[in-house]
Formats: sequence, C-alpha cells, structure tokens
Amino acid sequence: MSVFSLFYKKYAFTKDALKSCREDIMQHNGRSLLLVSFIAFVFIGICSFIPILLEGRIDIFVVYLCTAAIELLVFIFIGHTCASGRFSRASVIAGFLIFYICIMGFGIYIDVIQWPEQRSVLLHILLVCCQILFVFNPLGILALNILTVAVYAFFVIINKPVTVWQYDLINACIASLVGMLFVWYISHVITREILTTRRLEIERNSFREESIRDELTGLSNRRDYLHGVNFYINVCRHVHQTVCVIMMDVDFFKNYNDFYGHQKGDMVLQSIGRVLRQLMSEEHVYAARVGGEEFIILWTENRIAEAERVAMKLRQMIIGLGIPHVKSDVAPYVTASFGLYILRGGSTDSIEDLYNHADTALYKAKNSGRNCIVLLDSADKVMRQVEVPLPENPPRWQGRRRNR
Ligand code: GH3
Ligand code: MG
Ligand code: MG
Repeated sequence: MSVFSLFYKKYAFTKDALKSCREDIMQHNGRSLLLVSFIAFVFIGICSFIPILLEGRIDIFVVYLCTAAIELLVFIFIGHTCASGRFSRASVIAGFLIFYICIMGFGIYIDVIQWPEQRSVLLHILLVCCQILFVFNPLGILALNILTVAVYAFFVIINKPVTVWQYDLINACIASLVGMLFVWYISHVITREILTTRRLEIERNSFREESIRDELTGLSNRRDYLHGVNFYINVCRHVHQTVCVIMMDVDFFKNYNDFYGHQKGDMVLQSIGRVLRQLMSEEHVYAARVGGEEFIILWTENRIAEAERVAMKLRQMIIGLGIPHVKSDVAPYVTASFGLYILRGGSTDSIEDLYNHADTALYKAKNSGRNCIVLLDSADKVMRQVEVPLPENPPRWQGRRRNR
C-alpha cells in the first residue's frame, strides 16, 4: 500500500485526480533530482577525483570519470523528463535501474576491489540522494535498500577484515533508514501541499464547471443563466446599455420525438447547441439551454436593426442545419420560433420581467405561425413580427440528408 492509496481513501479522489497528483509529484522530484545530481557531481569531484588525480592513478580516474558521467547523464535525463512532465513510468524505472546498476558497479569497484577500507559513506550518500526520485514508491525504496545492504555486505564480508565490514554494514543500514525516512517525509509534505492547495482547487472548479453546463448541448444550463443574468442585467443597467434577449423554442419537437425517436431528438438538440456555440463566437452572445427544447440568448446591442439581424441570422442557421422534419406543420425541416425582447438601458424590469416578456414574445411567435421572430420593445411595449427578407435561402439538406 503506497501513500497514494491512503490519500486516495482519505480524500475519495477520482482516478484522474490521483494520476495528475502523481505526475505533479514526479515533476517536483524531477526538479529536485536535477539539483541533487549537480551537487552529487561536485561532491564526487571534490572527494574522489582530485585525490586520485593527485595520487597519479590515471586509470582509476578514467573509470571514475566514465561512471560518474553516465550517472550524471541518467540523472539529468530522468530529472529533465520528470520536470517537464514528459515521462512515462516505464522510462523512469528503466532510467533508475541503469543508474542503480552503474552506482552499484562503481561502488563495488572502488569499495571492494580498489580501496576496501574507504568511500562507502560517499556511495551511500549518493544512494540516499537518488532515492528522491522514488518518492512515489517508498516500499520499493525499502526493498532496494535491503538489496543494496545485502550486496554490499556480501562483498565486504568476503574481502575485508571483520571490524571494517561491520562498520560498512552499520553505515549502509543507517543510510538506508535515513533514506527511507527522508523519502517518506518528502512524499507526505509534497502530497499534502498538492492535495490541499492546487489539486483540490482544480477538483472544485471542475465540479463547479459540471454543475453549470448542460451535458447534452455543451451550453450553459438554466442554473448558470439564473446566476449570471442578474449580474449581466445590473451591469448593463448601470451603464445604460440595452440588453437583447431571445427566447427560442424548437417547433413541433414533440412530433419530432414521436416520429423519429428520442435519440434523434437529442441529436437535433446537439446540432442546435453547435449552432449556438458558433453564434456565441461570431456575435459575442451568451447562450443557455433553459428547458427541454428552449434556449435563451443574451447580448448587448443598442441598435434595434442589429438585434434583429442577429435574431434573423440565428433563425437562418437553424434552418440551414437542414434537419428533415416531416411531422412539422410549418416546414419540412426543423425550425424554431423566437421571442426577441429589447430591454432598454433605462428600464426598471426585473429578471422575471425580462424572462416573462421574452416568453410573451415567443408565445406570440408560436401563435403567428411559428418559424418566425416576434420583437417586443420595452420602450413602447409594442409587439411586432420581424420581417424576414425574401427569398429565403433554401435549407442545405435539400438533395442530401444532414441530420447529424
Ligand atoms: P411547439 O411548436 O408548440 O413548441 O410544440 P412542441 O412539440 O415543440 O412543444 P411541447 O412543449 O409540446 O413539446 C416539447 C417536447 O420536447 C416534449 C419532449 O418530448 C421534448 N423534449 C424535451 N426535452 C428533451 C430532451 O432532452 N431530448 C429530447 N429528445 N426531447 C426533449
Ligand atoms: Mg417548449
Ligand atoms: Mg417546442
């Protein structure tokens, strides 16, 4: 059982959050490793290379240098890939094993063959340093330390006088223990920091995001609309900006579902969601699905002609989807009706008034034959149908089916 499974239980995280938490930790480790590898390299240089060079042992110096260079490269490779987040678990483990074999070979070479009485301290410090890499697996480190001690013990026992190998063994055991505690401590500190700050924040945000989004269409949902509209209207009122609201409802949608089935009906709603998202990016409007096949579009525009243009554009985009609808009494394709309410800057309408007026205009559009736009202006409270320019563009589905 790793620390992660403990945290997993404690915070009841999703698997994705756990995975990204692990990745964060490995990125931390990568950065630490780059630093540690540099320090270790300097440390080896001062403690080992210079004395050997001074003694004139060029052959041993070359062996030292090669081994240290390989270690350094492995350190940098693993450190860099971890820090940049472009690692895979397999590559990190493979890199670590190469490193481990190098350092064992290096250690056995100098410790047992060359100078049986010295430098094991240095090697164990290095081993402890490299364990930072394995923060994500403390039990693995324990196993590795036991193996290290066993291999060292074997070699020192067969090569050294009793007193020397006893010291070595104690030294290795202490280093392993310190390494274990160090790894355990770091993993706790980093994990706690990540879990309690950034990760939890992301988790919360993603839950929040889900709670305001309509799953089927990807638009905002009713909750988001109700929450946002207050702020929106108040700001517009404050700066005397005119707000335009469209209440849109798909025509004869019940008939559509009854004839084509609910699944096809859902696909229609998804297509309408795509159209609205396109409108959002092209005309800078806000769109939400506030009911089954009802949508609200909100934007600011002081020029009535411009507001009408946006409404007409949306109507044409829905027609342009060219989704066949043989059970519609208004057209052989899917259409919608639109209630456009113009809330002038000085108006004192409440949010409910806004909704009700747009709904009244929609109701009028439904009663005026559907597939049309009815405009209601808060300035004069007069309702009129928006003239749609003729001839109308034929739907694109004619000649090919486009119900996607
Ligand atoms: P009108 O032209 O007067 O608006 O007629 P209508 O049939 O569109 O209106 P009505 O309110 O009678 O029916 C709305 C239908 O919308 C009923 C329901 O089957 C359908 N509907 C609501 N939500 C969903 C949904 O999420 N998916 C699907 N496929 N259909 C839905
Ligand atoms: Mg409806
Ligand atoms: Mg309808």
